[in-house]
This record gives sequence, structure tokens and C-alpha cells, in this order.
Amino acid sequence: MNRQLQRVDGTRVLVTGGAGFLGSHLCEKLLHAGNEVVCLDNFYTGRKANIAHLMSDPMFTVMEHDITNPVYLQVDEVYNLACPASPVHYQYDPVHTMKTSVLGMINMLGLAKRVKGKILHASTSEVYGDPLVHPQPESYWGHVNPTGIRSCYDEGKRSAETLCFDYHRRHQLDVKVVRIFNTYGPRMHPEDGRVVSNFIVQALKGEPITLYGDGSQTRSFCYADDLVEGFMQLMATPPEFRGPMNLGNPNEFTIRELAEKVLEITGSSSKLIEEPLPADDPRQRRPDITLARETLGWEPRVQLDEGLTRTIAYFDQLLGTGNARVKTPDLTLSKAG
Ligand code: NAD
Ligand code: UDP
Ligand code: UDP
Repeated sequence: MNRQLQRVDGTRVLVTGGAGFLGSHLCEKLLHAGNEVVCLDNFYTGRKANIAHLMSDPMFTVMEHDITNPVYLQVDEVYNLACPASPVHYQYDPVHTMKTSVLGMINMLGLAKRVKGKILHASTSEVYGDPLVHPQPESYWGHVNPTGIRSCYDEGKRSAETLCFDYHRRHQLDVKVVRIFNTYGPRMHPEDGRVVSNFIVQALKGEPITLYGDGSQTRSFCYADDLVEGFMQLMATPPEFRGPMNLGNPNEFTIRELAEKVLEITGSSSKLIEEPLPADDPRQRRPDITLARETLGWEPRVQLDEGLTRTIAYFDQLLGTGNARVKTPDLTLSKAG
């Protein structure tokens, strides 16, 4: 039989936002697990360099497309990650951010419904806003400003969750919603604007480390590999399990502590400077991951020192500074993370 006509028996998976930071790690892990992967991205914050090492794999396809427009593909599973995640980038065109979360979500749900496939949606801890309950369990409904500068993202993601659950109730669609807490690692864009990449790039270049406010606000940082593993475990759960499920590392740090760790690991002599705290910046954030532990047996394995060391080595190589005191032996992009 003509090999061209033979059907691929593995699962065909669509990853939207597949050329982004998390999406590229997910595409890589899905391919390693034997899946065929279609990576769809509009390359707003994603980069071809993130997926360059996957391009020669015959099981990998890249499609430049914006999910706010319909798309017709034949797949078994959809991971919907398309959406700028850094406040700087999601606030640049807030209307498009909202369209991505709402129109894009409707299109991806429509697609999953047409192919009778499963869909996992990447939601966020931002659905809890500036939380009054700490740590945050999935049962907390949040404390969100509907009209502020973060609202395009927070309310967009909240609407996307609503759509997932309405497609389930109305059309019996197999949906999974994951709420991601601050995740970092290799392949973040050097100009992403989020705190981990900002501090590392500043430290490696010997530039001032920009603390917004006094740095007493907290975040809990998860390493990309741990998170992506959780995505795939959640996708494998039976249809009765829809979430929402928190995924993140519950070890909480102040932003000042993070800056000090980056300085220590890089050996940089950069100074800390304080800049104005952006509006509505959450004061504290830490996931309650009891549900993930009990349902998936999932537990983050890479703690902050190790994850930062790996991420610093990645940026040191990317920027060619040679300033990082700590080196990891294997810096190939295909194995980064
Ligand atoms: P990222 O900015 O690196 O990746 C987002 C990707 O989506 C990029 O490749 C971008 O080009 C693409 N994209 C954006 N809008 C699109 C559109 N309309 N159509 C097609 N592609 C589009 O960010 P990331 O950290 O990899 O985040 C991935 C997903 O996870 C996002 O949905 C984000 O909201 C969610 N998330 C991430 C974190 C985190 O800490 N990394 C936390 C919470 C939620
Ligand atoms: N859609 C898509 N790809 C598909 C199927 C649907 O992009 O394979 C889009 C379609 O354009 C529609 C949206 O998803 O606007 C929602 O689809 P659904 O079937 O739920 O709604 P309807 O088409 O009935 O409005
Ligand atoms: N932050 C900072 N300096 C930076 C970038 C961010 O102090 O250069 C702070 C920001 O004000 C917030 C925290 O770090 O309190 C996390 O910011 P990030 O943009 O990474 O993600 P968020 O959790 O706010 O969406």
C-alpha cells in the first residue's frame, strides 16, 4: 500500500499558541510521547526559534493562524494556549486580547465539538484577581476588577472558562480547564516582560533589577516541565473530570526574594531599583494544589533554585553574555528545560 495513504494511528493533537514559551515545551513533549502535533500560532509573542528544533520531525506541522478566525482541522485533541500571557503584551492591544479569549475560545470549542474531540484550556490564576483568600483553592470565585488595565486578560480568561463549561453543558463536550500559576523556564522571550525573565536578563546584562513597588508582593513560581506534565495528565483523565484545576508550585516568595536569588545564582552585581507598582497588581498569590495531588498524583518536582539555574543558563547562551556564574552542561535547545 502507498505509504502516503496509510493512516497515522497515533493521536493528532492541535496546540494553539504552540510557538510560545509553554506551547513549545508542550509540542515537544507530545511529539516525544508519540503524538502527531499541529502547532498553530499567530507569532505575536511566539517565536519560530522556539520550535525550530521540531521542524524536521514528520509528525510536526506548523500553521500561522490567529484563533480569532475560524479554522477547520481534523484532530483528536486540542490544547488551547493561544493568548499573550505577559501583562505588557496583553495590555498592548487589550481588545485583541479579549477577542483571543472569547472569539478564539468559541472557535476552538466549535472545532472540538465538530471533531468530537477533547479540549484543554489554559486558564490562569488571574481568575482569582487580587485574592482575598490565601492560598487560592479552585472553589474561590475571586476578586477581580472588571474595568482595569488587567481586565482584558482576567475577564477574558473568566469568560473563556464560562464558555468551556457551557459547551460541556449544552453540547456534552469533553473539556478540561487548568488554572496556571506563574510558570517560568527556558524559551521565555527575552523581552517577555514577566518578572523571572526580566530579572534574569537584567542581571546577566549588569542592568538595574526593576522591583515594581517595594517587592513585598508574592508569587509562587512553577517550572515549565512540571506544568506541561500536569497538562498531559489532565488531558488523560476521563470525561467526568473537567476541573477547573490549579497547577502551580505552592512555594511562595516575595518579588524581592526572587531578585536576590537571581543575583546570587548569576553572581551579578546589578543593583535593585524600585519602580512604580502597576495598577491592580495582585498582592499575593499561591495555589492550593490539593485537587491536582489527589486527582492526578501531580506534584511539582523542580524547585526555584534549580529552575532558575536552568533558566539562567538558557538566557546566558541566548544573549551570549557569558556572565552567568552557574552553567548547566547541556544547553541544547531541544533538551532545554
Ligand atoms: P506566550 O506569550 O509565550 O505564549 C502565547 C502564545 O500564543 C504565543 O506563541 C503567541 O504568539 C500565541 N498567540 C497569542 N494570541 C494568539 C492568537 N489570537 N492566535 C494564535 N496564537 C496566538 O505565553 P505562555 O506563558 O507560553 O502562555 C501560554 C498560555 O498559558 C496562555 O494562554 C497564558 O494565558 C496561559 N498562562 C500562562 C502562565 C504562565 O505563567 N506562563 C500563567 C497563566 C496562564
Ligand atoms: N469553528 C471553527 N472550526 C471548526 C468548527 C467551528 O473554527 O472546525 C468555529 C465556527 O466558525 C463557529 C464557532 O467555531 O463560529 C463555534 O462553532 P459552533 O458549532 O459551536 O457554533 P455555530 O457554528 O453553530 O455558531
Ligand atoms: N514585577 C517586578 N519587576 C518586573 C516585572 C514584574 O517587580 O520587572 C512584579 C510585578 O509587579 C508582579 C510580579 O513581579 O508583582 C509578577 O509579575 P509578572 O508580570 O511576572 O506576572 P503577574 O503575576 O503579575 O501576572
